[in-house]
Amino acid sequence: MTTRLYTHPIYLEHLTPAGHPERPDRLRAIQRVLDDEPFERLDRVEAPEGDEQTILYVHPEPFVEGIRRQVPEEGMERIDGDTVLSPKSWQAALTAIGAANAAVDDVFSKKADNVFVASRPPGHHAEKTTAMGFCLFNNAAIAARYAQKKHGAERVAIVDWDVHHGNGTQDIFWDDPSVLYCSTHQMPLFPGTGAKGETGVGNIVNAPLSPDTGSDHFRDAIRSRVLPALDNFAPDLIIISAGFDAHHRDPLAEINLTEADFDWATGQLMDRAARHSSNRLVSLLEGGYDLQGLAFSVAAHVTRLMKG
Ligand SMILES: [Zn+2]
Repeated sequence: MTTRLYTHPIYLEHLTPAGHPERPDRLRAIQRVLDDEPFERLDRVEAPEGDEQTILYVHPEPFVEGIRRQVPEEGMERIDGDTVLSPKSWQAALTAIGAANAAVDDVFSKKADNVFVASRPPGHHAEKTTAMGFCLFNNAAIAARYAQKKHGAERVAIVDWDVHHGNGTQDIFWDDPSVLYCSTHQMPLFPGTGAKGETGVGNIVNAPLSPDTGSDHFRDAIRSRVLPALDNFAPDLIIISAGFDAHHRDPLAEINLTEADFDWATGQLMDRAARHSSNRLVSLLEGGYDLQGLAFSVAAHVTRLMKG
């Protein structure tokens, strides 16, 4: 497998207040572990700046302009209690979108079999017209639309194993049968959405997990809910909203996964990508707030991506 890695120093310049869990050190921890020798073969590419027009595939222009106007010249500007803008946040967000779209280009042009994007800010809580939960724009949703518009993908699946429900992705594709959204997440937990009964037009598969459950329940949910939905849908591309905050060390949730679970889940999705989408798999970083849990989980995830 050729696995490409996109990242960029600008992602370290999206600043959040002291003590905020979504912080630049998360990416530093990932970079340190991916600099180790087992990852020498990774095809490392600096993330390109995104095309602003592609944001409009998902978010209306007045919302996008509203975010742009709120970016402060110095200091920080709060969108809500959790979600913050600093002077370089616009450029960081645009480069996160650029990397996600470039990853889609790469898997369709066969420059890579699969791609991991280590970027900030994350995206899956961003709804059509609401930035929230540390997220400004929905990177995975934009990449899915980009695959449809630029590469003629008919069906795109987004699998979200972040411990929080991706309310934004669900909101964006709620009545769109061309995109399948599957999520495992702790419930109850922020943002409160993601009940089993939320099914869109049959294209939304929510598999909530109770607090204090772990590997068995997570793997059951993937096996019994997510994989059958993928087989039924037969996507042309699989995008992973890859949050690693279901790790047992994570401070924001109570699901007890280990690195081995992320390795396993990655393998399952690669298997489906091989079966349905010529291996095309794009993985975008979402959450993960314990630096060690995050770094080890990303290492397991990327090791599996490279192995095939
Ligand atoms: Zn999360």
